[in-house]
Amino acid sequence: MSIYDTLVVLDFDRTLFDTAAFHQDYLLPHIGRQFDLSTAQFPPHFTPPSEHGFFDAFQHIRTLRPEVSETTIARWAATLPPADFLLPGTATFLTHLAAQHIPHLILTVGSPQFQRFKLQLSALTATLPAHIIEDISKVQVVRAAYQNDGLFHWLMNGEEELRAKQIVLVDDRLSHLEGLPMYAQGFWLKMAAKPAERARPIPPGVQPIDSLLELLQVVE
Ligand SMILES: [Mg+2]
Repeated sequence: MSIYDTLVVLDFDRTLFDTAAFHQDYLLPHIGRQFDLSTAQFPPHFTPPSEHGFFDAFQHIRTLRPEVSETTIARWAATLPPADFLLPGTATFLTHLAAQHIPHLILTVGSPQFQRFKLQLSALTATLPAHIIEDISKVQVVRAAYQNDGLFHWLMNGEEELRAKQIVLVDDRLSHLEGLPMYAQGFWLKMAAKPAERARPIPPGVQPIDSLLELLQVVE
């Protein structure tokens, strides 16, 4: 089994994906038409109930329209057209990683159904290995992947295990990078980070970057 130098672990929302534009220009108009809901009922800048909470649009429809079944929502979501809401630099970055055979995956927090829906909107992210977590932290996932042999062991797709000497974690949320072990490198992508994130202190060892393209020098 080959051992890679670097495994790149990418956040999805506001790191690869323009979540704010997606809500405003795609999700809300489609939901409004289908379920007769106004943007006032469905604020684009929805605040999750807790710091580790997340917005699940499908669950939110069910809260506002209890008579609509999960199956109805899933069937409707499957009819929505593909769309490109990738942030500037994402396509170039992912294409470059693939061309250089640098292993990379998505690690995202949220509800599996809604996260999978967003991932599948664009072919570039639909085809990447993606891990969706709900109730454990990213730091816990990174720690669990580190084994006694000093390598990261990561199940990429089902059974295929990848081994890497170092891990690079990219996120727009500083809380996801807090407490990272020494053997992991954290990068805070500022580009689409929420204002509250920009006001927080940057955790020790975490490097701020303005664009994903800055990482290309790090991982090569
Ligand atoms: Mg994010």
